[in-house]
Amino acid sequence: MGLFSSRKTVFVDSDILVIGGGFGGCGAAYESRYWGRDLKVVVVEKANIERSGAVAQGLYAINCYMGMRWDENRPEDHVRYARNDLMGLVREDLGYDIARHVDSSVHMFEEWGLPIMKDEETGRYKREGKWQIMIHGESYKPIIAEAARKAATKVYNRIMVTHLLMDKTRPNRVAGAVGFSVRDGKFYVFRSKAVIVSAGGASHIFKPHSVGEGMGRTWYAPWSSASAYALPIQVGAKMTQMENRIVLTRFKDGYGPVGAYFLHLKTYTENAYGDNYEATWYDSIKEMVGDYVDKQPVPTCLRNHAFLQEIKAGRGPIRMVTKEAFADPHKETVGWENFLGMTIGQAVVWASQNIDPKETNPELMMSEPYVMGSHATCSGAWASGPEDYAPSDYQWGYNRMMTVDGLFGAGDAIGGTAHKFSSGSFTEGRLAGKAAVRYVNDLGNDQPRVDETEYEDLKTIIYQPMENYKVGRNEIVAGTVSPSYLLPIQGLQRLEKIMDEYVGGTSTNYLTNEPMLTRGLELLSMLKEDLPHLGADSLHQLMRAWELQHRTLASECVTQHTLFREETRWPGYYYRADHPKLDDIDWHCFTLSRYNPESGEWAMEKAPVHHIID
Ligand SMILES: Cc1cc2nc3c(=O)[nH]c(=O)nc-3n(C[C@H](O)[C@H](O)[C@H](O)COP(=O)(O)OP(=O)(O)OC[C@H]3O[C@@H](n4cnc5c(N)ncnc54)[C@H](O)[C@@H]3O)c2cc1C
Repeated sequence: MGLFSSRKTVFVDSDILVIGGGFGGCGAAYESRYWGRDLKVVVVEKANIERSGAVAQGLYAINCYMGMRWDENRPEDHVRYARNDLMGLVREDLGYDIARHVDSSVHMFEEWGLPIMKDEETGRYKREGKWQIMIHGESYKPIIAEAARKAATKVYNRIMVTHLLMDKTRPNRVAGAVGFSVRDGKFYVFRSKAVIVSAGGASHIFKPHSVGEGMGRTWYAPWSSASAYALPIQVGAKMTQMENRIVLTRFKDGYGPVGAYFLHLKTYTENAYGDNYEATWYDSIKEMVGDYVDKQPVPTCLRNHAFLQEIKAGRGPIRMVTKEAFADPHKETVGWENFLGMTIGQAVVWASQNIDPKETNPELMMSEPYVMGSHATCSGAWASGPEDYAPSDYQWGYNRMMTVDGLFGAGDAIGGTAHKFSSGSFTEGRLAGKAAVRYVNDLGNDQPRVDETEYEDLKTIIYQPMENYKVGRNEIVAGTVSPSYLLPIQGLQRLEKIMDEYVGGTSTNYLTNEPMLTRGLELLSMLKEDLPHLGADSLHQLMRAWELQHRTLASECVTQHTLFREETRWPGYYYRADHPKLDDIDWHCFTLSRYNPESGEWAMEKAPVHHIID
C-alpha cells in the first residue's frame, strides 16, 4: 500500500470531455454546446483557461483569416499556400475544411469583444499579410475563454490529465481520462462518451538555446508539454508527420516574433557585411529540392536553410534592418506594441542588451526545434476527414476522429494541417465538437464503460514519484541528488540533450543520420527505464514528472518518424545527412506511426498524399 493511496478520488461524468482549454479546446466546448444543447460538456485544463495555452500572453495578429466576404481569398488559395510551404505534403481535406469555416470564427471573436484593427479607408480588417489580420490582442485568450466557460457545463482548472481510459467492453474505444489536481492533489476520473484532445504542442523536447540564466525561455509556450501527442500515442492512435518539427527565425535571445516586422513594417535581413544573402543559395537549394525553391512565397524551411548556410559560410550574424522602419514614428510604435501585446520578454532583452532598434539592427537567430500541428508544421494525430470532402481512405468515421473510436482532436493535436494558427485551431475545435456530438448521439445505448482496475492501477502509478521522493530523500548525497530517484528537471535535461545531439537539434546544426537516430532511440529507451524512478517533492513537481513522461514518449515518436523518412524533405528544419535530398519518388507521402502500448514497439507505414485542389 503506497503512502498516497488514501488520496481522494473524484468522479466526473460527461458526454463530451475536452482535454486542454486553449484555442482548440475553447472552440470544441463552444460548438459542442451549440449542437448538443442537453449534453454534459466538461473541459479539463492543466492551468486556468482564462490565461492558458500558447495565446496566454496575447497576440498581435490572427494569422488565418480568408476575408471571403470581401473576396480577398478563397479556401482553395489557403490550401495551396500551406501545401507549398510544407513542400507538398498537407491533408488538403482537413485544411480546406478549416479554411472554409475560419472566417465565421473570427467574426464571432469580434462580436465577443476582440478589437480588430480596421483599414480606415475601406473599413475592412487591416491586413498584416495575405492571411494575417491585426488585432489589439492582449486579452485575446480571456475573451475566447469566456465563451468556452459559458458554453461548458463545467470547467475543471488546475488538473493535469495524464492518461486516457479505454472502454472495458470494446477495444479501441475511448471511455474517459484520469489526472490529478495540481492544487490539492485529488485524483480525478473523468468518464465520458467522447473525448476531444486539444492539449497543445511540444516545447522543451530539444535543448533550447536559452540555458543557464535564461533557462525556461523558449519560443513555443514552455508549458506545451506534448500531452496532445502522448495521450493518443499511449492508447495506440496513429500519428502522422511527427518528423516535421519546426525551427523559426526569431530575434536573438528573446524569441520575439518577426512576422509583423517583415510584413507590416517592411523590414528585411542582411548578413554581417550588409549584403542580401538569400539569392546566393538559390542554385544549391535547387539542387537539393528541385522546383520547390521556385514557389512563391518561398517555403519557410528553405529560407531557414539559406540563413543557416550563410552563418556556416562565416558571414553571420544575420540582422534585421530595423533602423529604416523605426525612423517613422508610427512604425516605431507598431514595432514596440507588437512585443508588448505578445512577447514582452523581447523588449526586456533588448533593454538589457542596449539594443534600440532605431539605432541598432538587432540580431536574428534560428530557434531550437519544436513539434506542433497548428503553426508552420503539421505533426499530430492521423484524423478522419470531413464527410463531404475527404477522399475515402481519409475517412473512417467522424470528422477529426483519430484512429481510436470516440477520440477526437483539434489544434496542435491534429496532424497534416499546417497554418491553422489561433483562429484555425479554434475552428478545428468547433469541427471536432460538432462531430463529437453526432458520435455521442449515435451511440444510443452502446455506452463505453471504464474499468475500475484500470483507473485504480493508474492512480498508484501517477502518484509514484511522490512516494519515490518520500522514501529516497533520506539518501540525498549532495544538494538534491539522491541515488534512488531522478528529479524531473534532471530527466528533462537528459531528454533535451539526447534529442539535441542525436535527432537534429542546434548543436549538430539540425543534422542527423540513421546511426545517430538509432543511438538516440537507445538512449531514449534507457531514459524510459529510469522514468518510474522519478521523484517529486510537491504536486508541482508531480506535474513536471508527468510532463516529462509525455515529452519523452512524443520524442520517441519524433525519432522513429525521422528515422523512417529517408530523405531531407525540409532543409532548414532538419537534415538527414545520409539522404541529403528531397525525394518525391519515394517520399511524396505521409508517414504514419502506431505505438503498441502492450509491447512498446512502433509500427511505421506510408499513407498517400491526395491532391484534391489543383
Ligand atoms: C509564441 C507564439 C506566437 C504565436 N503567434 C501567433 C499569431 O501571431 N497569430 C496566430 O493566429 N497564432 C499564433 N500562434 C499560434 C497559436 O497560439 C496556436 O496555433 C494555438 O494556440 C494552438 O491551439 P491549441 O488549442 O492546439 O493549443 P493551446 O492554445 O496551447 O492550448 C493547449 C491547452 O492545453 C492545456 N494542457 C496541456 N497539457 C495538458 C494536460 N496534460 N492536461 C490538461 N490540460 C493540458 C494547456 O494548458 C493549454 O491551455 C502563436 C503561438 C506561439 C507559441
